[in-house]
Amino acid sequence: MKNKQEDLIRYKDGNLYCEVADIWIDPSKPVKRALITHAHFDHFTIGCEEYFSTNETAILIKERVGDNLKIKTYDYGEEFKVNGINISFHPSGHILGSSQIRFIFAEEKWLISGDFKLQRDETCKQYEE
Ligand SMILES: [Zn+2]
Repeated sequence: MKNKQEDLIRYKDGNLYCEVADIWIDPSKPVKRALITHAHFDHFTIGCEEYFSTNETAILIKERVGDNLKIKTYDYGEEFKVNGINISFHPSGHILGSSQIRFIFAEEKWLISGDFKLQRDETCKQYEE
């Protein structure tokens, strides 16, 4: 359990990390659990035990690095739980499959945005406010 003064999500080793869920966001090195905001390679590292992303991001990543990855995929807005934290992906308008990631834990709510774009783009879902 986290103590009160600690942030749910914080910087650790240059990456965003959620200790309660033991999950990293776009980690730059292999970790146990990685949330991937989108399929650009400055946001992706090979060698993580388990990945979580949108369906579209998983398709793009597998297209580029092969099928040999354990990726759990979700629709936009679909909530899933990791160690009691509710996590969901929401459109960020950057590229196909790109997302902001929402964390809900007890009364705390966090929204992590990686790359995003506010203009309309025919190739992906629009940024969700
Ligand atoms: Zn990008």
